[in-house]
Order: sequence, then C-alpha cells, then structure tokens
Amino acid sequence: MLPIIRKTADAVQELPALLDFSAQALREWFQQRGKPAMRARQVRRWVLEAGAESFEQMTDLPRSLRRDLAAALVPLGTRIERHLQAADRTHKLLLKLRDNRLIECVLIQEDNRRSACISTQVGCGMGCVFCASGLGGVERNLAGGEILEQLVRLRNLCPDLQRLTHIVVMGMGEPLANLDALLEALEVATAADGLGIGARHITISTVGLPAKMRRLADLGKQYHLAVSLHAPNDELRSQIVPTNPQNGLASILEAADYFFEQTGRQVTYEYVLLGGINDLAGHARELALLLRGRHAHVNVIPFNEVEGLPHRRPTPEALAAFQAALRQQGISVKVRKRKGSEIDAACGQLRRQVLGQ
Ligand code: SAH
Repeated sequence: MLPIIRKTADAVQELPALLDFSAQALREWFQQRGKPAMRARQVRRWVLEAGAESFEQMTDLPRSLRRDLAAALVPLGTRIERHLQAADRTHKLLLKLRDNRLIECVLIQEDNRRSACISTQVGCGMGCVFCASGLGGVERNLAGGEILEQLVRLRNLCPDLQRLTHIVVMGMGEPLANLDALLEALEVATAADGLGIGARHITISTVGLPAKMRRLADLGKQYHLAVSLHAPNDELRSQIVPTNPQNGLASILEAADYFFEQTGRQVTYEYVLLGGINDLAGHARELALLLRGRHAHVNVIPFNEVEGLPHRRPTPEALAAFQAALRQQGISVKVRKRKGSEIDAACGQLRRQVLGQ
C-alpha cells in the first residue's frame, strides 16, 4: 500500500502564479497597477524565503493589498495531487499543473543534506527503454516558474523551512531539451535572494545532447553535469537509448570533455545496470577503457523495476563484479543507494500509476 498522507483535489487555478513572473516582470506588474515596485520583492521573499503559500500569510502587506493580490494572482500555481512520504523521510509530490497535467518531484533527506529531484518536462521524448518517464512520450516543456515551484514546494516540506542543499535535475524529462527554462529557474534557485543553493551543488543529468552540453559548458556556471551512458559501445547503447544513433558515444564524450575543459568540473557518467543486458564484467572493462584518461566518475544505478517493463535488477554478484572491474582499472565509481523505494520514488512511476497507464 502506498502511504498517502495528503491528497488535495482543489480546482486548478486559472490565475497567473507569482513565479511565472521574473523579479523584473513582477516589479513592472506592480507598477502598472499603481503600486510601489518594492512590493514585488516583498512578495517574492514571502514565497521564496518564508514559505508562504497564501497572500493571507503575508502579514506585512496591507490587508487590502493582500485581497487585491488574491484576486489577481496565486502564490503557487501548482496543486499537490498526491503527497507520499517514505520511512526514510523521502517525500514525493505529484503536482498538478494549470492544464491538469501531472509532474513529479522528490525530496531526499540524509543527515544534513536536503536534495530536491525535479522534472523539466511533462513526460520525456528520449524513450530510454527502461525508463517510466518516456513511456508516453513528451507532452510539453515546463515553464521556468513550474520548475522553480517544485523547489519551493519541496523546500516547504523541510523541517523549519531549512534551505535545500542540493538539486538533482533527474526527474521527468530531458533537461537539456528545455535548457532555457531550466536556466531561468536555476538563476533564482542560486540567487542569494532566491533559494540560496550553491551552483556546485546542482547536478544536471542528460541523455547526452552534445550541442546543448557545449552550450551549458560555455555559460561559465559551476553546475555539475551527469551524462547517462548506460553502455560502453554504440551498438549496445543504441538498443537502450533510442537517441544514441543521432549523436553517438564519441561526440557525447567529446562534448563532456569540453565541459570539463571549460568549467574544470569533473563529469559524472551514469550507468543504469540492467540484469543480463549491460552488466557483464566485459562491459565494465570496456567502459573503463572508454573513460580512461578522462576526469570521470561513474555512478552505477541498479535498475528500479518499472511495472510493464521486462527489465530486471542485476544480481548482487553482477553488481559487485561490475563495480570491482571498474575499480581495478582505476575508475572512480559509486553505486547509487536506493531511497524511497516504497513510494515509487524513481522518476515517472507515480504519475503512470495515477494516470492508470
Ligand atoms: N533525461 C535525463 C534525466 C533522466 S533521470 C537523463 O537521461 O539523464 C536521471 C537518471 O535516472 C538517468 O540516468 C536515467 O537513465 C535514470 N533512470 C531512469 N529510469 C530508471 C529506472 N527505472 N531505474 C534506474 N534508473 C533509472
């Protein structure tokens, strides 16, 4: 049974949401209505820093202004459709967007780390064969405000409204296919008067879109890049990642090298281990050869079962042997721990369940 602790089925709001506006656009919005522009900063602080979810809570605003604002805007434009909490304090939110579409985001808490895992698209167009998010294709890109709002909603779940310490852009969607909106959201996430999260603590995970990886490298930001490799050669990768034939491992690795040269930040390679498919010791050796000489770190992710998909988890022996073979070749490797498994924390799974797909 899923431990459902809250479900709100409020009518989805038609009014524009505060975070749909940039700081500048919100200042103009106030000015156009004959109100001081500084109100924009005040209202944004309530939502971004103080966790307000209604204008009523913004007690230093005149009552009449609070009423006017409530008639014209909503502080948050998403609705919590489901809220699940696992025993390990992992929270998962299924958020309903203004057009009734659903997205997922997850809060993972470990010691003093509070990591948000966020989505960038409704669904995903990449179609990786083992992934729940891609099963129904991509419906649309999220707006910057919708990406930011996931962070605000997850931060609002943190005890004492403590700051999120990390962001992983590993929810639904391909982040680099919606890079502009993502960057917009991350600007606010990293701003001192935004969510105050260090850029070095933000990981963007991509299926490997070389042109976009290069663009990200050229921004001069300290974001961390993770590349979903999943196979050590093009033949196998093309069977697992349908976009592979267009790009190919060589050009993805070149773009990753470029990212390292430009930013000085080591690239992480993600490798979902699918039992009997890409988990042989030979695959590990081939992967080590591919990455040798690169400033690379490998994150091995044992497959999380997805209902309706035929893949299975690697055996513990295969997992251990895979890891050992990489280590033996001098490759830095870590196995991703499983968090929140009883609430289907792996991306895309809860949404599919609710949509009945
Ligand atoms: N589109 C981006 C973000 C995807 S989610 C990308 O491809 O990187 C982040 C990671 O979770 C990716 O490496 C993805 O391959 C992996 N993933 C997706 N479904 C999974 C599953 N069922 N089990 C384990 N890992 C999965």
